[in-house]
Amino acid sequence: MASLQLDIVTPDKLVLSTDVEYVGAPGLEGEFGILPGHVPFISALAVGGLHYNKEGKTRWVFISGGFAEISEDKVTILAESAEEAENIDAARAELARKRAEERLSKKGDPDVNIVRAEATLQRALVRLSITGR
Ligand code: ATP
Repeated sequence: MASLQLDIVTPDKLVLSTDVEYVGAPGLEGEFGILPGHVPFISALAVGGLHYNKEGKTRWVFISGGFAEISEDKVTILAESAEEAENIDAARAELARKRAEERLSKKGDPDVNIVRAEATLQRALVRLSITGR
């Protein structure tokens, strides 16, 4: 079967580099799918779950937004942070969720950065939705 090379890169490390059959990525305007031979394009990504199919299995990776560059047989994801589902620390994400919810409950407090707390909450909720997938 024709295959795609999927690379997921963050400023810290190469999170994943593997041959896959299909990639479903969280585009800013909704999920998009990539099969081998796709026309080249670049897309901004939302905070969300990316999934790929390989040898009959579907695997999930948390992506904190970023960009996807697609060429005929290669998908490169550049993200601020990314974790494969099995590497997500659910307890850490749960703590991040609680901290963010506490901050959001103090909306009138000038020391609370609401936009930042909302972004943290979203990352935590998406991570929690991917753990165990
Ligand atoms: P936290 O407050 O727990 O750091 P965060 O959403 O602010 O959460 P990020 O800024 O997205 O964290 O990521 C910082 C680094 O920590 C990245 O390398 C990311 O992969 C890692 N990371 C954050 N949360 C988790 C988690 N729940 N499981 C595994 N790695 C995580």
